Amino acid sequence: MENTRKHYDVVILGGGMGGLSCASFLVQKGFKPLLLEKERFLGGYGSAITREDYTWNVAVYAIRGLGEKEPFGKLLQRLSIYDKLDIGHPEISFAGIFGKEKFYLPQNPAVLKEQLASKFPEETRQLETFFQTVESFNILTKYNELKQENFKVYLSQFLQNELLQFYINSFLLPMGRPPEKTSAIFAMIYLKAIFFGGISMIRGGMKKMVDLLAEHIQNKGGEILLGHQVTEILTQEDRVQAVRAVNQRGEYLTVEADYFVSSLDPTRAFAELMPNPSAPVAEYLAHLRRLTPSTSAFIILLGLKKEVSLSPEFSFPTKPLQVGVILREDALDEPSCEIKKIYFIFCSANDPSLCPQGKECLALVTNVPFVSASFWEQNKEAFAEKLIQIAGQYLAELKENIACQIAFSPLDLYQRTGNSQGAIIGWDVTPEQVLKRRLSQDTPLKNLLLAGHWTQPGPDISLVSISGYQAANMIISEKSSGVAILPKVLRLP
Ligand SMILES: Cc1cc2nc3c(=O)[nH]c(=O)nc-3n(C[C@H](O)[C@H](O)[C@H](O)COP(=O)(O)OP(=O)(O)OC[C@H]3O[C@@H](n4cnc5c(N)ncnc54)[C@H](O)[C@@H]3O)c2cc1C
Repeated sequence: MENTRKHYDVVILGGGMGGLSCASFLVQKGFKPLLLEKERFLGGYGSAITREDYTWNVAVYAIRGLGEKEPFGKLLQRLSIYDKLDIGHPEISFAGIFGKEKFYLPQNPAVLKEQLASKFPEETRQLETFFQTVESFNILTKYNELKQENFKVYLSQFLQNELLQFYINSFLLPMGRPPEKTSAIFAMIYLKAIFFGGISMIRGGMKKMVDLLAEHIQNKGGEILLGHQVTEILTQEDRVQAVRAVNQRGEYLTVEADYFVSSLDPTRAFAELMPNPSAPVAEYLAHLRRLTPSTSAFIILLGLKKEVSLSPEFSFPTKPLQVGVILREDALDEPSCEIKKIYFIFCSANDPSLCPQGKECLALVTNVPFVSASFWEQNKEAFAEKLIQIAGQYLAELKENIACQIAFSPLDLYQRTGNSQGAIIGWDVTPEQVLKRRLSQDTPLKNLLLAGHWTQPGPDISLVSISGYQAANMIISEKSSGVAILPKVLRLP
């Protein structure tokens, strides 16, 4: 069924945090963008789900950079959204269980340092130096020195004991790759944020933030079309002319615009949505195909009839937001479909508004590769059962208290967000693919910019929101100056 045709100043593809942030800053400056989202809900990985009495964030459990003076916090202040959010701070943000050992990270990182120093007294001085280096880490002064360095090599310059290195490295487990494949700079920024910047959560779940952004966009004249999947990006020479989208009734819409911002997986957008690509586009696509996506994850959201506790030998002063349980010595190696580690996310223990008192929302997460669609079609149920069984070894009476559960395999993550192979954070965070070396926001098509976790500055909702802000700013400056878009972030060798 064909076909409505419309013109906008900017069209944004994808309504995750990257797309929402871009639209929010554009409306702030008087633009009237259109945002197209394939699902009936916004947020992408940053969405939340409510089932029966229980609400969970699907994937965003711990937010970095949301302090009042931190970049993400400042961005939300500019949108007058910050004060409307109920921001909470878990008493213990991360904890680790390693065999019989356990450590935890409260708001004050000195406590973690003391726990590690009492276990490794011969490294007390080195730990002091390492924590100081993390606290004072400055990307601008360290970039050139460390841009090629991986975290394994970098950390070994501070700490000698391999087990201690293992404990520190395990804070990077959520990235899903071994320390020798993780950028030293990215690791240090991440550790600085979680040790010293503090971890935040949005009370009531991510839907609160997503709803506020959507309200802001619409109140200021932007338009959001849910249930509209972009099926084609129509180009002419070095510009995008229009995109076509189809809604769930099979009706097509063609929208033209001066600018387009895509937060979709760029490899898929360029390979699957652009018919007859020009030579520069084909060359760009070949470049994208040489980059490495991040690994995927298996998630189970559990609604529990009553609160469950970690068995006494594994308990902490209060229930941490996230507990990483290391099940095998090779837990830091590449993820495989054997369960080597598992995270418990104690959602409602740290935000009681997520379910009625006495009940509990819990998430179980582990990193796994995508393997293939048919693998997860066949193995999803058995994998979920195994994950719950392992979790039950740490959480007494877990299985018998499950009131409802929702599992996401890598295939589900791929189908929900369109990220290739259910990649959790866009490209991997190897030295070659982070910060200024991550895929630039400009593209060979002069009026098409990228936002989201596949582009600069990087993954997680705080950096992704910055990418949206940067894309909006590039358009705003070009419009006001009449000078062609230049990438605001330098492309480095
Ligand atoms: C298991 C897991 C745990 C994580 N933990 C954290 C955490 O604790 N803290 C944190 O900050 N980050 C976390 N992240 C990372 C974070 O969620 C992402 O980096 C971020 O949300 C990505 O946002 P985005 O806008 O780039 O992409 P997405 O969230 O993937 O959004 C893309 C959007 O585009 C839409 N779309 C796709 N194709 C089309 C199409 N053809 N037409 C129209 N719309 C389309 C999708 O439906 C989706 O809404 C985690 C991720 C995972 C998977």
